[in-house]
Amino acid sequence: MKILYFTHSNEKKVGILGINKAVYALNDFSKLWKGDLPTTLNDAIPLLTDEVVQQIKEAISGDEIAPLCTLDDVQLHAPIEYPRRNIICLGKNYRDHCEEMEGKTSDMIDIPTFPIYFSKSAFPAIGAYDEIVVNASVTTQVDYEVELALVIGKEGRGISKSDAMSYIFGYMVANDVSARDVQMRHIQWLLGKSQDSFCPLGPWVTHRSEVANPQALRIYAEVNGERRQDGCTDQLIFNIPTIISDLSAGMTLYPGDIILTGTPSGVGMGFEPPKYLQDGDEVMCGIEGLGHLVNRVCIR
Ligand code: MG
Repeated sequence: MKILYFTHSNEKKVGILGINKAVYALNDFSKLWKGDLPTTLNDAIPLLTDEVVQQIKEAISGDEIAPLCTLDDVQLHAPIEYPRRNIICLGKNYRDHCEEMEGKTSDMIDIPTFPIYFSKSAFPAIGAYDEIVVNASVTTQVDYEVELALVIGKEGRGISKSDAMSYIFGYMVANDVSARDVQMRHIQWLLGKSQDSFCPLGPWVTHRSEVANPQALRIYAEVNGERRQDGCTDQLIFNIPTIISDLSAGMTLYPGDIILTGTPSGVGMGFEPPKYLQDGDEVMCGIEGLGHLVNRVCIR
């Protein structure tokens, strides 16, 4: 099941994507749960238990509910447009990306022995087709990083590796847009990665019941049609259960938390000379089975 957040007829809604681009309003299925009508995915995640997800799928395949519209009729937003707290990110979690960044970043760590975490403010995160707007007075070295994003589905602390996957609600594509000059100047990653519009997410959340193995997915990025990144999520240095177990050992994870799992090689900074994003560039980030993001760069 793919869960969307969109505007239709001047109203923001959570929806479900069916076959032939049919879009259903989530609240048309509200008899399947007790409680309120969610207006955001953050509100919906606790209601969308495995049982409710299964019932929604059955209701759609049985034509019990009519679609609201089609995908062509909506404006997509980031599935979680206003995360309740900063997005948790991993740095250097693909070996080939560590190699391309060797000697180019301030942290001096080549292949990490413990996961490198940082956070990224995305308030709001932008949608699959929104513009990445760059402030030219702040940065001239804007880069892309396609990443597999995890969305946490239930609260947990001290989560074991063997239980970790059951804490995931679903998966989406992220672009961890990064201002390299700001990262270098400030010797820390938060500001350079938290510029407004620097976090495209989406195009929707794919529920974990539809992703047989999230660690065997092709992950790629193109700039103006030129393939720059082309990896597989099986190359993660710290895999998904390790990340969830490690993070949650002393830090509670909550429904709606977003974790970006790192990027494979091929970022602009890795080229000689570097290939940073320019005004008008179109960046496409995709992951097998999860869809893709297409964001135009606008430098002001
Ligand atoms: Mg990143």
